[in-house]
Amino acid sequence: MKQVSAVDYSICSPPRRIAGSETFSEGHASGHLAIAPSRDGADASAKQGVGQAGLGQTALSIDVEDWFHAANLAGVVPREAWNDCESRVERNTMRILQILDAANIRATFFVLGWVAERCPGLVRAIAEGGHEVACHGHGHQLVTSLQPGEFRADVSRAKKYLEDLLGMRVRGYRAPSFSIMDWAIPILQQLGFEYDSSVVPTIAHDRYGRLTGVHTGTPVALLGDGFHEVCISCLPLGKRGIPWGGGGYFRLAPYALWSQGIRAILRSGRPYVFYIHPWEIDAGQPRISGLKATERFRHRVNLGRCEERFIALAGAFPWTTIGDLIDQGYPNRDATPRQAVGR
Ligand SMILES: [Zn+2]
Repeated sequence: MKQVSAVDYSICSPPRRIAGSETFSEGHASGHLAIAPSRDGADASAKQGVGQAGLGQTALSIDVEDWFHAANLAGVVPREAWNDCESRVERNTMRILQILDAANIRATFFVLGWVAERCPGLVRAIAEGGHEVACHGHGHQLVTSLQPGEFRADVSRAKKYLEDLLGMRVRGYRAPSFSIMDWAIPILQQLGFEYDSSVVPTIAHDRYGRLTGVHTGTPVALLGDGFHEVCISCLPLGKRGIPWGGGGYFRLAPYALWSQGIRAILRSGRPYVFYIHPWEIDAGQPRISGLKATERFRHRVNLGRCEERFIALAGAFPWTTIGDLIDQGYPNRDATPRQAVGR
């Protein structure tokens, strides 16, 4: 693995509007958020508008894994083949660091242990950039596929490696493909984590997990003993919502609509939590044959436009880390304190 400092990248362009995009504004209906067309072109003032209103907080997160770790490719790229795949995570993550630096913002990086052990210089570069380093487990198996003992071993290995490498405590965990389950929470607490950020409180997704009592009305939920769940954002639709936190949804939706949705969430008094993977700004990654149509679509939709969108998003809101979101004392008025469910 070459030194990250030797990689040369072009300077990223400043945040800008996407040409030809429509602008939208948000309204409320029946207690739910709704988005309606507007002529006010308020998108460019999002950063100032949020600050002036003193509403909400925005946290940015990056799940640091390589293109071949993505769950959509698991059926055709077995883990035994990972070592033979072209690694592109270092280049792509350094590009994200460059974008964040240009926007003068900080983020939380949930680093996969498998990547950290092969790219320790990349993990150091993330920490030296002032960002929060958190844990994405080691082997990227869905939590739903593991026994509790297997889960503990996987997460413990990754957390210990990161902490020994950096000499600092790792506070946060995110499950692969948001596959968190109730029984995993006590294990995370026992391993010394302070928060999990794995719940996408959406209507339905075949891989996403659930935590009892956590929903769109509890975006930052105190699960007990100072341990928080920080949800990936959704546009509320009852107790479940439309995924509005990143991934293929971010790449698919018109950018202006997406940013207006963020402001709708912030105006409702909820924080906003976004995620992205380094491989999502890499349209040059290898094309894999044998994928189902849904898997190919989820993985590749608008990869070529994602970097431009991410640059715009990075400059449009006052992003911080998930750790800071918790420390700054989000009012948490809708959260329902509950004890973690063990087994
Ligand atoms: Zn992942």
